Amino acid sequence: MNELIILKIEMPYGAVKDYIYPAVLCDDDSCVLMDCGYVGSLQKIEEALRQDGLSPEAITHVILTHHDHDHVGAAAALKQEYPNVRILASAEEAPYVSGSKKSLRLEQAERLQKELPEEQQAFGAAFCDLLRSVEPVQVDRVLQEDERLPFCGGCQVLATPGHTPGHISLYLKEFDTILSGDAMALEQGQPVLPNPQFTLDLQRAKDSMQRLLSHPAQSIICYHGGLFKKLY
Ligand SMILES: [Zn+2]
Repeated sequence: MNELIILKIEMPYGAVKDYIYPAVLCDDDSCVLMDCGYVGSLQKIEEALRQDGLSPEAITHVILTHHDHDHVGAAAALKQEYPNVRILASAEEAPYVSGSKKSLRLEQAERLQKELPEEQQAFGAAFCDLLRSVEPVQVDRVLQEDERLPFCGGCQVLATPGHTPGHISLYLKEFDTILSGDAMALEQGQPVLPNPQFTLDLQRAKDSMQRLLSHPAQSIICYHGGLFKKLY
């Protein structure tokens, strides 16, 4: 049976309580987790899976939309705990996920750190440390733009660059739904670019979000914000 389950996982963001929404796609042969939480969140992911009646051992694949810390943060720990899990990422993101290239987000944060006013220096330094704490994980298979994957009756890799250069989203045919990753987020229910100030290529990110909004899919599930249903 094909099933789409959206996990809701608390993510501390300063004093504010925030949530992320990793998705799980299950069919008779595989169980795919789309994005893998922040650093140290493996236990929360395991708990969320169990709450939804899934055993963490059932996860066969993890698809990573991009290499940001809140998407790949628990991937290395998960792979260590469940070594049979296969990690998938786009060809362009894979070197940053596996650590063969330095994280673009860390490079950006280190660059910005030099320009931060005195009162923001501590915050900036803590953010850089957080990014440095992301453990690299080997990518078992690279994904290409528009590639069709067999999971859950078929899904398609959508290239949605901008937030990072190799960012991908996933269109799930069976559910007529897109998993956006960080190509789109929701704020008060409205589509927005997540952290536009950190977007590596703003114009491409805007084009990618537009691509998702003009896609005929009925729903978009945002990693930050959850379910967005299109009204026609
Ligand atoms: Zn994110």
